[in-house]
Amino acid sequence: MLPFIRKDLAELTAYTPHPGGASGESAHSESAIDRLDTNECPCDLPEELKQKLAWTYQQLIETNRYPDGGHAALKEAIAQYVNESLNAPELGAESIHVPPLSKGGLGGVLPPKTAITADNISVGNGSDELIRSLLIATCLGGAGSIFVANPTFSMYGITATTLGIPVVSAARREDNFAIDINEAKRAIDQNQNPPVRVVFVVHPNSPTANALTTDEIEWLSNLPQDILVVIDEAYFEFSQNTLAYRLHQHPNWIILRTFSKAFRLASMRVGYAIAHPELTATLEKIRLPYNLPSFSQTAAEFALAQRQLLLAVIPEIISERAKLIAALTQHQKLQVWPSAANFVYLRVKAAEGESAEHKHQQIMQQLKQQGTLIRHTGGGLRITVGTPDENQRTCDRISAILTY
Ligand SMILES: *Cc1c(COP(=O)(O)O)cnc(C)c1O
Repeated sequence: MLPFIRKDLAELTAYTPHPGGASGESAHSESAIDRLDTNECPCDLPEELKQKLAWTYQQLIETNRYPDGGHAALKEAIAQYVNESLNAPELGAESIHVPPLSKGGLGGVLPPKTAITADNISVGNGSDELIRSLLIATCLGGAGSIFVANPTFSMYGITATTLGIPVVSAARREDNFAIDINEAKRAIDQNQNPPVRVVFVVHPNSPTANALTTDEIEWLSNLPQDILVVIDEAYFEFSQNTLAYRLHQHPNWIILRTFSKAFRLASMRVGYAIAHPELTATLEKIRLPYNLPSFSQTAAEFALAQRQLLLAVIPEIISERAKLIAALTQHQKLQVWPSAANFVYLRVKAAEGESAEHKHQQIMQQLKQQGTLIRHTGGGLRITVGTPDENQRTCDRISAILTY
């Protein structure tokens, strides 16, 4: 360890999307691999859209000029999209609640009909950047710690640790992965030095795919105003269940979303936050000046403009998810949970004297040898819903592994 590097970073393991190496040591070329370990959409952008984007790149983007540092056009487009998801649920999900719009709206400055404006939006180099900015805004320098309920998205804890911010955690219920609220309350009460300043939840959670329950939402609603509640809706387009309509009641809530999943732009690194204007203004102070390349901004604007086309595959992904869950549930040895996202979570029911974690590791490794990457995390296995062919291979390969 180089002597000038902080000691606490020595023990930290970097986030590895493909533990053990997806390429390199693997016998398969990238194209022969079913990459079902990082929850992207299985479809690339349509060819015409890529061509239009390429044209924009050639004709309109001056590569010698800095990007729009204020993301003005993109923030406008995002605000419009968010409002649409509040007011007119296009995908016909009953789970969207139409907001009881109170006078004043978010921050007391917005007219009731347009709940969200560009002032409520902040854009990041992936929502990962926004997570880091939020930690800097709230907890840095001993000002606070964060709370997570495990298993959950690991980047909250990893990023906090890189900043020297303590992580307080509690368990989830084993049956449905809802947060054990009494344990959460106790953990938050007992850790006052420094106090918990941020609670992170994912809606629906990764890796366990469950949406927040009414009780959990109630608990989040009643948290004190000096705790920031981060609701990560990375999988919103799959769950069609948002809490954005309640932001105007809770200035201490922030919603994170991303273009990396349903919008098929993981390579472009674009995430956004929806929050009280004072909080987004703070995020603007913290971020690096030109955090989002011109091409990424353009790609995100394109994706929003073409959202009906891009999101049209979601019903198919949801029906593939149902098939995958049904097929995996056939196996006596597997416990498979319902999913509100584009991935499925399962565990092996270990027999007497058997280690479930050892089995998980084995299944993950054997699938990898056959060319299917899945994620072993949180004491179970998380499998992204892929194309119909990929899902069929997943089921066949798991069947073969369990039979043998
Ligand atoms: C994939 C994912 C994100 C997206 O991160 P980006 O940095 O925007 O790619 C955020 N939160 C969760 C829980 C995720 O699973």
